[in-house]
Amino acid sequence: MDKKQYAVIGLGRFGTSIARRLHEAGQEVLGIDLDEESVEDAETFYTHGVIADSTDEKALRSLGITNFDCIIVAIGDDIQASILTCMLLKNLGLKKIIAKAIGKRHGQVLEAIGVDWIIYPERDMGDRVANQLLSPNTLDYIELSKDHNIEEIIIPSKMVGKNLKELNIRAKFNVSVIAIIRTGDIIVSPSPEELLQREDMLVTIGKRSDLARFSSLND
Ligand code: ATP
Repeated sequence: MDKKQYAVIGLGRFGTSIARRLHEAGQEVLGIDLDEESVEDAETFYTHGVIADSTDEKALRSLGITNFDCIIVAIGDDIQASILTCMLLKNLGLKKIIAKAIGKRHGQVLEAIGVDWIIYPERDMGDRVANQLLSPNTLDYIELSKDHNIEEIIIPSKMVGKNLKELNIRAKFNVSVIAIIRTGDIIVSPSPEELLQREDMLVTIGKRSDLARFSSLND
């Protein structure tokens, strides 16, 4: 993977968690927070940590912020600071700005400013928990559109030992299998003759309602 330069502004739980994951993946991470303690607490999770106010244009410029590939604005509670920071970054011409929103209105303002990716951590996590409760066999999913998902589904035990051709999942459920995850390995575009094994997971694509019908087969 290419090494990129990331700056995470706001080192609460959300920002620190992003910084940690990026740092573990070998990326360059600059951590920025107003609060000295927050910068020190997250010290092991980034390449450099700086105490600075991100609403101060001079401070941002002096950090060379315009050289970064991606900025994550992880300030939530102080909506004004989040909005001002995003506006400044946008005016400075940054290519990729990601920001956390704590509610709909906050998100709408960030959208109007032109933030590239707005994340609603509480709402999105709530959706994921509810979906997991509704479809216990679906381990993970990506929303492709309002109606379509890619989902990772545990196979029903009655499918073990059968191949994809005889199961005919596409015709029966209108769901396509794009990969099989087997003991940590991924078989991409599996052959129709591939025999399914116990504990296989299918990576599937389709309409959400069709996927729900398929993933509830085990119940
Ligand atoms: P989380 O839910 O991620 O734990 P939080 O609720 O603890 O976040 P937030 O208000 O979302 O806190 O702020 C996250 C961090 O952003 C805090 O550590 C805060 O010090 C920092 N922060 C707030 N305003 C600024 C600013 N203007 N410049 C830099 N950092 C800021």
